[in-house]
Amino acid sequence: EYKGMSKEWIMEIRRKNCNPMTMKITYYKKPVFLHQGYMQWLWDFDGNRYLDLFAGVATVSVGHCHPKVAAALQRQSNKLWHTTNIYVNPTLHEYSEKLASHLPDPLKVVYLTNSGSEANDLAMLMARLHTGNFDLLTLRGSYHGGTQQTMGLTSNSSYKYPIATSSGCTHVRGEEATAGTLLCRPPDNVAVPKGMGGAVQYPKNYLKEAYQLVRERGGVCIADEVQTGFGRTGSHFWGFQGHDVLPDMVTMAKGIGDGFPMGAVVTTPEIAASFAKAFHFNTFGGGPLACAVASSVLDTIKEDGTQQNSHNVGTYLMTELAKLRDTYEIIGDVRGKGLQIGVEMASRDPLSPEAMSEIFEDIKDMGVLIGKGGVYGQAFRIQPPMCITKEDVKFFLAVFKKAIQRYMDKE
Ligand code: PMP
Repeated sequence: EYKGMSKEWIMEIRRKNCNPMTMKITYYKKPVFLHQGYMQWLWDFDGNRYLDLFAGVATVSVGHCHPKVAAALQRQSNKLWHTTNIYVNPTLHEYSEKLASHLPDPLKVVYLTNSGSEANDLAMLMARLHTGNFDLLTLRGSYHGGTQQTMGLTSNSSYKYPIATSSGCTHVRGEEATAGTLLCRPPDNVAVPKGMGGAVQYPKNYLKEAYQLVRERGGVCIADEVQTGFGRTGSHFWGFQGHDVLPDMVTMAKGIGDGFPMGAVVTTPEIAASFAKAFHFNTFGGGPLACAVASSVLDTIKEDGTQQNSHNVGTYLMTELAKLRDTYEIIGDVRGKGLQIGVEMASRDPLSPEAMSEIFEDIKDMGVLIGKGGVYGQAFRIQPPMCITKEDVKFFLAVFKKAIQRYMDKE
């Protein structure tokens, strides 16, 4: 119970007073009622503990209620909550410098927002203003936000409404981009997705060639690091690193605040100058609470060796999952980097939504939360708080094997 409210009562409120779509996406047939978290663990109303391998959609980065981050939030909450950027508050400046130090030159100008959608929305505006062009390219299957502008970038059909959203957005297939379809229209910007499709990776040199084609036509390149930033890919701090490219803008959110609402765009002084023609105002963006939290997240990533852990534990998990893929026919593909992992469930065809749901529910009932994704809902997503250990991975693998075995025995 929560404050004397029964589960039935809460579900009744959900039916009556909450966004009706939330009923469709309780995610589980038997919904999980969560009320407490610590590092990689979550507890439900009945006191059951879950290993969290989805981190509230790849959002909790260093751990639920990480003691250092929680302490930073508490300290700031007793000092100052809000000023807006018209006054000078040190938190925003301390954080902007710290964040910029994590990005290569010339990406040094920081705009703070409250979400990933807001960050991408802002990046779209800046890109259009700076280049004087209008068209944007994103990849099919991508998700870049739910505001009317970013919905144009988002190509995943589940998030599309039958209404014109932002025009000028073209969704390209990977092979089209390299085979020259980009020549058909003068593309201006390319946003870089990774995540909702189930950690789909770029073919070798894909990004480099796409960036080149876009720039030859006077475009700029935006890396959407909402899911992949802050050490999640293990080998690098940002997802674009290791691809031999340098974006003109980087957008980020989710892991930036370990679950505290926040987002950012980091760009070059040149683009920032083009954008300085009008006054850009955001009441909450870069507020003292968010900056204190985000600053502590960056410190914690360093102090806890979070990125290295992401690499070590992620590589171990990928290796073990690859063994399962070779054992079980229904695991079609295992892909990802660090703790951004997708497991495609398919033999010849993608596993049916019913089958996916059965395995997914079983995994939850055995105490592990993972995510779902992919164009046909055929991929499992593993994007945990980056503090998980090898022991946690062993526990998950045992659970995953058991769920697959049980499903196959029934078939
Ligand atoms: N970009 C990517 C890659 C995302 O995964 C998301 C959220 N799933 C967003 C942008 C939008 O972020 P937000 O939900 O914070 O608006």
